[in-house]
Amino acid sequence: MIVGERKPYEEIKSMLEGSRKILLAGCGTCVKVCFTGGDKEVALLASQLRLSAKKDKRNIHIMEMTVERQCENEFIEEIAPYVDAYDVIMSMACGAGVQMLAQRFPEKIVLPAVNTTFLGLLEKTGFFVENCQGCGNCVLGDYGGVCPVTRCAKSIFNGPCGGSQNGMCEVDPQTPCAWELIISRLRALGQLERLSKTTPPKDWSSARDGGQRKLTREEQILS
Ligand code: SF4
Ligand code: SF4
Repeated sequence: MIVGERKPYEEIKSMLEGSRKILLAGCGTCVKVCFTGGDKEVALLASQLRLSAKKDKRNIHIMEMTVERQCENEFIEEIAPYVDAYDVIMSMACGAGVQMLAQRFPEKIVLPAVNTTFLGLLEKTGFFVENCQGCGNCVLGDYGGVCPVTRCAKSIFNGPCGGSQNGMCEVDPQTPCAWELIISRLRALGQLERLSKTTPPKDWSSARDGGQRKLTREEQILS
């Protein structure tokens, strides 16, 4: 899932300075699961903003609305009938959701309330870890299902680097060495021979350094 965290309240408040009518839009998918931008977080932020406005003797009106997915036009159509009545839309979705709203409502100011952090998973309650950088050419099949791009601090493909201590990474001793994990997994799977040859440099042309990437599904294009 896409993991994000809410921006500090002071930053949100300063972005909204001068706005009286605010449409606060949540997203019911990734950011809801990571407790950042679903309906409950929308309600919490709305209460904070209302209380703060009351304290500052300012009049504001906030509409709370959470759609299933902000990154799909089909779902943000639910917001469309209300947009004209508001000065600003503040989105609690990931960066893709915020941009979808900005594209759909070009005449409206759209602001982000969330810092989109990474693609990851919930390791234990309240603790998320990054597991994928969306490199566009997945090599998990060669590495026992452990990503060397993301989980090795040096993104080494022919590891380990020799610096790990007691199974932990030399760059961050709180993080397990990805290569220890790769080797244990491959050993358990009886596939250690996968590491007997040197892996050539990865083709990074599918990664994101060349700008915005695109994906076409030919079978879904209607002629
Ligand atoms: S190899 Fe690439 S696509 Fe696969 S998990 Fe790692 S970063 Fe993600
Ligand atoms: S200690 Fe392990 S995870 Fe850390 S940089 Fe070296 S090989 Fe990568």
